[in-house]
Parts: sequence; C-alpha cells; structure tokens
Amino acid sequence: MDQVGMSINLSELRQSLSSGRTRDAAWRKSQLQAILRLLNENEDRIFQALQRDLGKHPIEAYRDEIGIVKKAATHALSCIDKWMATKNSQLPWLFFPSRAEVLPEPLGIVLIFVSWNFPITLALDPLVGAVSAGNTVVIKPSELAPETSAFLARTIPVYLDRKAIKVVEGGVDIAGYLLQQKWDKIFFTGSARVARIVMAAALNHLTPVTLELGGKCPTIVDSLSAPLDLKVAAKRIAAGKWGACNGQACIAVDYILVEHKFSSTLVELLKKTVKRFYGENLKSLKNLSKIVNKHHFNRLCNLIEDPAVASSIVYGGKVDEENLIIEPTILLDPPLDAEIMLEEIFGPLLPIITLDKIKDSIEFINSRPKPLAVYAFTKDDSLKKQIVTETSSGSVTFNDTIIQFACDGLPFGGVGQSGFGRYHGKYSFDAFSHEKAVLHRSFHLELEARHPPWKDFKMKF
Ligand code: NAD
Repeated sequence: MDQVGMSINLSELRQSLSSGRTRDAAWRKSQLQAILRLLNENEDRIFQALQRDLGKHPIEAYRDEIGIVKKAATHALSCIDKWMATKNSQLPWLFFPSRAEVLPEPLGIVLIFVSWNFPITLALDPLVGAVSAGNTVVIKPSELAPETSAFLARTIPVYLDRKAIKVVEGGVDIAGYLLQQKWDKIFFTGSARVARIVMAAALNHLTPVTLELGGKCPTIVDSLSAPLDLKVAAKRIAAGKWGACNGQACIAVDYILVEHKFSSTLVELLKKTVKRFYGENLKSLKNLSKIVNKHHFNRLCNLIEDPAVASSIVYGGKVDEENLIIEPTILLDPPLDAEIMLEEIFGPLLPIITLDKIKDSIEFINSRPKPLAVYAFTKDDSLKKQIVTETSSGSVTFNDTIIQFACDGLPFGGVGQSGFGRYHGKYSFDAFSHEKAVLHRSFHLELEARHPPWKDFKMKF
C-alpha cells in the first residue's frame, strides 16, 4: 500500500470517528458480533494459515487463538452496557448543590501492532477492547506470519465496518510510516527492542502507549510430596514450555528453579512427559509448532552451541534445519552468564537451575529484570506469600502455567522491562478509553469567601 493510500484511509477513520457512529452501543455490539461471526465462519481458513505460518496444531490453534478471542468478545458483549455507563461520583459537601460523573469516552484512532506467535489472538483480542470502547482502528499484523496477516487483511473488511477498522500489512518500512502518523493510542505487542522505537515515535505526538513485551518467566518447583502432584506439575510445565507455540510465547516457562536434591527427579519426570506428549524421535515429533523462521532457528541453535551450554543438555538437543524443528531440550545448570540465561529464550529450550534452598529463588528472580510472569509449583503458603510480596512481575500463577492469559477478570500486562499497561476484560475497555470527569454546578449558594477582595481576618482561619 502506498503512502497516499494510507493517508486517505486514515482520514476515513477520522471521519467515522467524528460522525459519532462508533460511540453508539449498537455499533460497538455489531462489531463484536462481527468478530464472532468471522471466527465461526472461518475456522478452517484460520487453522490453515496458522499451520502454514507456525505449524500450529488445530486444537492448539482453537484453544489459544479462536477460543480465546471468542471468549473475550462474548464477555465484552455481555458487559458492554455496564462498562459504557456513566458513573456518579461523590463530591465534597462544600460543592453543594452540584453533581459529578465519570464518563468513559473513546480515545480516537488506535494503532495495534501484532507479533507473529499468536497472530490471530494478538490482533483480535486488543481489537475487542478497542471497538468495545468505540475507537476506530488500524491493525498492523506481523510480516513474519504472512498467511495469517493476509487472512486478516482479506477477511476483516468483509465482516467489520471497513470505514472504521483497517488492516495494513507490511514490514519495517510500513511500520515506520505508520509510526510517523498521529494516533490517539498505540497498542504494541512485541519485543523490547522495537518497543523503544515505538515509544520514541509516540513521543512526537504525546501518544499514550501500551507495551505488551516479554522476558524470561521463571518457574519455581518446590519438592512437592505427593507423586500425583509431581506428575500434574510436569504436565503443566510441559504445557507452559512446549504446548503453546513451542515455547515461542511471551508467558512461556523460560527456565526452572529447583533445589539440587530434587533436580534429577524433576528431569526424569519431564523427560517422560515430553516423550508422551510429543514423541521421542526428531523425525516423528508431533503436536509441536515449528520455529517461525530461519533467523529464529539459527538464534536458538546458537544458544546451545557454546560447549559449556551444550554439555549441560540432559535431554534432546537435535535439530532439523530443513523443517525448522528443534527437539524439546532440557539443560541442567547451564552457566548463568551464558546467553541462554541472559536473553528471553522464546523457543523449546528449557534450562533447569539448581539452588541450595528453594527460598533462594526469590533472590535469583530479583537479581534479574522484572518478568512478565512468575510460576511456582508449591503447597508452601509461606513461600507463596514471599513470592507474591517480595518479587515483582506482571503476574504470579501457582501450580499451573500460562492459564492466566485466559482470565477476563485478571489484568494482563507487564511491569518494568516486561512492558506497561494492561488489558483483558474490563481492563481492555479501560486501555482504550479516557475516563472523563464531568462536574455539573448549580448557580445557587455562592460561597463568597472563595473570591477576593479577601480581608486580613480571613487569612487567620
Ligand atoms: P517484534 O518487536 O520484532 O515485532 C512486533 C511488531 O513490530 C510487528 O508487527 C513488526 O512488524 C513490528 N516491527 C518490527 N520491527 C519494527 C521497526 N523497526 N519499527 C516499527 N515496527 C517494527 O516482536 P516479535 O518478534 O513479533 O515478537 C516477539 C516478542 O514479542 C517477544 O519478546 C515476546 O515476548 C513478545 N510478545 C509479547 C506478548 C505479550 O502479550 N506481552 C505476546 C507475544 C509476544
């Protein structure tokens, strides 16, 4: 799309906004219903696009993409009247007679940047919030998931209001052009590196931004006593490492913290679980997404090439360059100064770090940038309390992984280097709304003491 075309489209979005059409509850609901129709009538096309871009299994694709967005849109439809309602506010008695209210209004034209790993969810989930709040929207899908990007560009104009919601496909050039425009909000999902570019561009127009970034999400595994708990823990760790886009998720388990004495038990349990879920032989692995492209494949291979890291591999490690597959790989105590322990892994490599005492995990986490999520498998209430009160992260989940993303009642977002701003459920509506304070004053009962001329004695109050 050329730049002239873009500017025409943006002015169309502005006209739609100023017509007031997008403010109506009826418009907002019609767009949410359209999102649901789009998903219901295009399941197979979505499965196909996600299969081609990421090798995502249809069940995983339904659970993590179609299902998540359907749930979000259905929830928004059921709550929208309540969210939009003006709320009365208390005033000090000195203001009598007056009344005040808080009125949510749309921010205006919003730009949504999407990353490639959940290319349907991360486009449509923020869109649910943006249209619920009455905004007009441009979605910029990731060029690294081209089939899904093309699907969104083709399908969104068929179902949604094409004068108010647009998809602009493209890579860095188009993204750069979009960032030069004036937006009322930028909602960015992606890396901290690009987030800095986005924030710098937002600065020019003082545009508010939400940054949904990533980081290294630690998983503490306490030595649980019951064998059944351990089996459940291993399944849930596998689900949070390999089960959602094969570790290419912002909230994926990045590494595990465990006591020395318990590490071999955990490694054996994880090996068994991996074999059962995904198979054993590199050539016959199943139910796993592929690595998105050659660049990321090479990046991940480099992480385990360092001899000190390679020698810590206790399971997996084989790679298939042609099909962009890396075996689920477990490493025991790789060097802490190796790249694999410094950068977000974003792939199927799982380091396990051993500690003397499980409570040392608090210091370990606090000595690194604030993560998007902390997971802990434990029944110890004092450890739980310490994790919640003594570490900082976007979220904490006990005895499971990644499911917090699916909870409309919980805010989803980072802190520190894992981003800022939050969304999901009502938080999504708030992320795309301005809460306007409206105060209605009566002409009665003027308090003369507030106006000059002031006499000296008044100063003595
Ligand atoms: P990315 O930052 O490379 O790309 C994100 C978006 O920015 C894409 O739409 C891309 O086209 C655009 N972009 C890329 N380079 C740009 C530039 N120079 N100028 C302007 N725009 C540019 O990120 P990614 O590789 O798509 O995603 C991986 C990262 O995203 C990981 O760090 C991951 O943790 C994070 N992530 C976070 C969440 C979350 O919800 N918090 C979800 C998924 C991914």
